[in-house]
Amino acid sequence: MRQRHKPWADDFLRDNQQLVVPNPGQHKSNWQAAFKNDHPVHIEIGTGKGQFITGMAKQKPDINFIGIELAKSIIVSAAQEVKNAGVENVLLLNEDASDLREFFSANEADVIYLNFSDPWPKNRHEKRRLTYHAFLEQYKEILTNAGEIVLKTDNRGLFEYSLVSLSKFGMTLEEVTIDLHDLNDPLNVMTEYEVKFSAKGQPIYRCKARFV
Ligand code: SAM
Repeated sequence: MRQRHKPWADDFLRDNQQLVVPNPGQHKSNWQAAFKNDHPVHIEIGTGKGQFITGMAKQKPDINFIGIELAKSIIVSAAQEVKNAGVENVLLLNEDASDLREFFSANEADVIYLNFSDPWPKNRHEKRRLTYHAFLEQYKEILTNAGEIVLKTDNRGLFEYSLVSLSKFGMTLEEVTIDLHDLNDPLNVMTEYEVKFSAKGQPIYRCKARFV
């Protein structure tokens, strides 16, 4: 995702700490308190400009959504999207999601969304793919027993790799499709990348996976 230098980003983040949470490790084991309710927690890794998490938050007001986005210049756009929508069930983390166990304890989340994650196509970069087995081990720890991973991508290579990796890890695959938009699912909330790639006629791949 293209990053533009935003000299106002630091000031914005300082003024919006109730939405873009500083030091998120302090909420580990206690995210529901941060949301002031006991609703289930869903996490999106690589939230981008926030279109998906905002749409999901509107669709599912009884879920607490946490979006993690590494790039400061991008997360400020996500925060503006969330604020403009007036949803209160979203928190954002401007963090590297390479070890979610820094921020979440065991069984703390019900769903992890991986939307259009960087594909890292070179073999030597396999360990960076968010469905590499070391990431799956983390997800298994922080998800509840019935928890699930939901993956969407336009990248066939990453999709095929992920199906194999998830299966090898012993996960059960569900709702696997090689053309999500052909299903016309009225509940599908599109991401920025999904809008962009589907407009070009590219199919969108999606699967859900559980550890049981
Ligand atoms: N999910 C959005 C969408 O579908 O439109 C954005 C997809 S973009 C290809 C991937 C996003 O993941 C980028 O915004 C990038 O900054 C973020 N990202 C990449 N690695 C990350 C990491 N380790 N932790 C958090 N965010 C990361």
